[in-house]
Amino acid sequence: MSGAKWDVAVIGAGPAGLAAAIAANKAGARVCLVERESRPGGILKQCIHDGFGLVRFGQKLSGPEYAWRDIQLAKERGIKLFTDTFLLELEAREEGFVLTLQNSEQAVFQIVTRALVAATGCRERSARQVFIHGQRPAGVYTAGTVQRLINIGGHLPGKNCVILGSGDIGLIMARRLTLEGAKVQGVYEIKAEPSGLTRNIVQCLEDYNIPLHLGATVTKVHGSERVEAVTISQVDENLRALPGTEEYVPCDTLVLSVGLIPENDMLLPLGVQIDPRTGGPAVDQLMATGQAGLYSCGNALHVNDLVDYVSESGEIAGSSAARFSLGKPDRPCHLPVIPQGDIQYVVPQKLDIAAGGQAVLYFRSARTIANASLEISAGGQVLLQKKYKAVRPPEMERIVLDLALLPPGTEELSLNLRG
Ligand SMILES: Cc1cc2nc3c(=O)[nH]c(=O)nc-3n(C[C@H](O)[C@H](O)[C@H](O)COP(=O)(O)OP(=O)(O)OC[C@H]3O[C@@H](n4cnc5c(N)ncnc54)[C@H](O)[C@@H]3O)c2cc1C
Repeated sequence: MSGAKWDVAVIGAGPAGLAAAIAANKAGARVCLVERESRPGGILKQCIHDGFGLVRFGQKLSGPEYAWRDIQLAKERGIKLFTDTFLLELEAREEGFVLTLQNSEQAVFQIVTRALVAATGCRERSARQVFIHGQRPAGVYTAGTVQRLINIGGHLPGKNCVILGSGDIGLIMARRLTLEGAKVQGVYEIKAEPSGLTRNIVQCLEDYNIPLHLGATVTKVHGSERVEAVTISQVDENLRALPGTEEYVPCDTLVLSVGLIPENDMLLPLGVQIDPRTGGPAVDQLMATGQAGLYSCGNALHVNDLVDYVSESGEIAGSSAARFSLGKPDRPCHLPVIPQGDIQYVVPQKLDIAAGGQAVLYFRSARTIANASLEISAGGQVLLQKKYKAVRPPEMERIVLDLALLPPGTEELSLNLRG
């Protein structure tokens, strides 16, 4: 029952998917955008704080303001948007990708597309994934759920809160809960360093006198119907709770900000290679996965801290998908990109040297290093060097490499970060 045919289909209408759809449309492709929620904009719909768009627009915008620009542009360009539409099944066939979709208007239906962009964002790690003891009382939420309840639903989920994890969403919600009149007892982080951006530590915790406790975690949730308290324990260098350090902290709400997981389950049946370091598909600089015609971008590719780079990767994925679908497929010739020294991960994981031009490389350091230096080399030659006053794991770095610098016969490219 194969249905309407598209050049490019994009799954997910967050900032990555919107940018991909617009770029593919600008390149001349017939594009459709599939979104499971009733409005486009992705996570930005609930991010009413500002700080979005500094790189892309040179302006400090709120999440909805940032998303609005691309939503309007997509409308003006007549891009087909399927909302409230859920992807049930994805299959790769000779004619392209067959997507089985479901919505209340068309029930179960199929579309066929030559190229597909996966822009499905991330999901939040939950209580089960951090192994906290206790029953399962009401009052345990992920930070994104709290954000949605307050900013979209107008509900305050609790009045006396503990936040576990110092990721950016948790820091932002510590401030938001305080502004809404709740008491935030503190943010507890198991590692020795916060995992959020420095600007969020300052603007969301220090400015509101919210304490940040490092090397501490929640080991037990008390209460059967509703959270009544949590036990906090200090941890050793292996992040194991230290007996005798337990502290009983009364509260009615536990907010978890313990990490994001790129959402790629729908790609697994296609046998797409997932990089265990990023949780996203391994791609080249055109955002092409190993599966011909399949592209990935945004937080589904790797967790970004700035939406501007999410949109940038969407634009690259969308224009590459259009090129593929319009019969000008890239003929890849791949060179592996090897992270060395103190690099946690690099995206892309490989370079298509036949594509030429410039490649944007995103990387994160594995630890905080003052006066760090990055060296990019290939075939025994140093191609690029860069010094950093400091690098920190929460802050993603971006660097542009001119592929013309690669010496002939190069077999791999390495990025080495040292203190
Ligand atoms: C709380 C919070 C605060 C942030 N603060 C900042 C900030 O201050 N400054 C900044 O620059 N960045 C910030 N960011 C980061 C930025 O918002 C994200 O990096 C960005 O929104 C990710 O975009 P995305 O399009 O990849 O994913 P998302 O925005 O998550 O969009 C993915 C979309 O895909 C849809 N989808 C998923 N699966 C399917 C499916 N199977 N079928 C159909 N649709 C599907 C989802 O419904 C969603 O709409 C923040 C993020 C969060 C969560």
